[in-house]
Amino acid sequence: MGLEAALPVDGFLTTQLRHVINWARRNSLWPMPFATACCGIELMATACSRFDLARFGAEVMRFSPRQADLLIVAGRVSIKTLPVLQRIYEQMPEPKWVISMGACASTGGVFDTYAVVQGCDQFIPVDVYVPGCPPRPEQLIEGIMMIQRHIDQEGLPPPGGKRVPLGLAVAPTHGVRPQPVGISVGV
Ligand code: SF4
Repeated sequence: MGLEAALPVDGFLTTQLRHVINWARRNSLWPMPFATACCGIELMATACSRFDLARFGAEVMRFSPRQADLLIVAGRVSIKTLPVLQRIYEQMPEPKWVISMGACASTGGVFDTYAVVQGCDQFIPVDVYVPGCPPRPEQLIEGIMMIQRHIDQEGLPPPGGKRVPLGLAVAPTHGVRPQPVGISVGV
């Protein structure tokens, strides 16, 4: 929004003001959902009453990139869709952040084919990777909280500074359990 550029270089008042700006920005992330597949259903569930994304101030899903500062890529991205994703990312104003939600968005998932992008981070900078197929809404919320913590602690890059993707990853919430009953394959 250019607020940082208008502030004097240093001083007590500037620091306090920066805290207030970061606090406001952290608590009013506006997501731009780019939901192309089943992960989108979990994204919708995250915004519904059971998980209530509004508790974190991020429930105002915008379908206009110029009004959003958090791009959530949920689902596989095909080669044909890729230019649309890139256009949306470019149209979002700075500062902006990107979450890659689910195995398909991060790696192509099970769709190891020529038609599917094998990781959207090859084409746009990704800040937080949320694992799972699909991820639970709690995991997506954890990813959003990671960005909030970053805004709180690090603030924003200086005006004119280069945008560096954070490259954070949410830890999986569960491991694979052993097979309860021994199996054998007969002939
Ligand atoms: S990661 Fe799984 S749930 Fe998400 S879009 Fe891919 S196949 Fe669907």
